Amino acid sequence: MNQLFDALPPVLAETSDGNRFPVRRVFCIGRNYAAHAREMGKDPDREAPFFFTKWAETVVPSGTTIAYPPETGNFHFEAELVVAIGKGGRNISEDAAKAHVWGYATGLDMTRRDLQFEARDKGRPWDTGKNVEQSSPLGLLHPASAVGHPESGSIRLTVNGEVKQDADLSELIWDVPEVIAYVSRFYRLEPGDLIYTGTPAGVGAVVEGDEINVSIAGLTDLTVKVGAPARE
Ligand code: MN
Repeated sequence: MNQLFDALPPVLAETSDGNRFPVRRVFCIGRNYAAHAREMGKDPDREAPFFFTKWAETVVPSGTTIAYPPETGNFHFEAELVVAIGKGGRNISEDAAKAHVWGYATGLDMTRRDLQFEARDKGRPWDTGKNVEQSSPLGLLHPASAVGHPESGSIRLTVNGEVKQDADLSELIWDVPEVIAYVSRFYRLEPGDLIYTGTPAGVGAVVEGDEINVSIAGLTDLTVKVGAPARE
């Protein structure tokens, strides 16, 4: 039998120790900082964690110029701490969770906010708002063996040098072990899975020509530019 066309090549994220990390799936936690939940018009205090998923192919490296996506006039940045899973497991306990982590990176959960809100308010799926081409920029992955498990420290985002998001990782409502335990109740986590842990307050829109920089204490900065819409 002939293979009709090329299979999708794996997405290979770069690591700080000179390796490639094959990305398997992307899980994104919603409303995980209280001030951001409030700016989205929700009460952060009474909500269980929730998440949505994105295709692995939405992951792009630092330095990418992201094409401004179609069907939106409100393309938002969300700076996030990303957890990279190195060891799989189902129903992982919070106590065991750190042993499943390969490492950490800075990330962006880019969002067509207008489509996300329309879907949210009509009770429809978030896919068109969240699972957007090139919408999961990922910085250099640092092994936990080198950087530990960050529980506090600055998370900051600038657009063209102007500070838009400025918070601390200690403000996460559901911390990394809790998030791993929660997601692994629904899916067996596998090596290569990425969990974007949610964004702090201050999200906003970007336009073509903007440069976004994300910095998290102890990790390498992530920088992307917003380019013209893709024509093909
Ligand atoms: Mn997000």
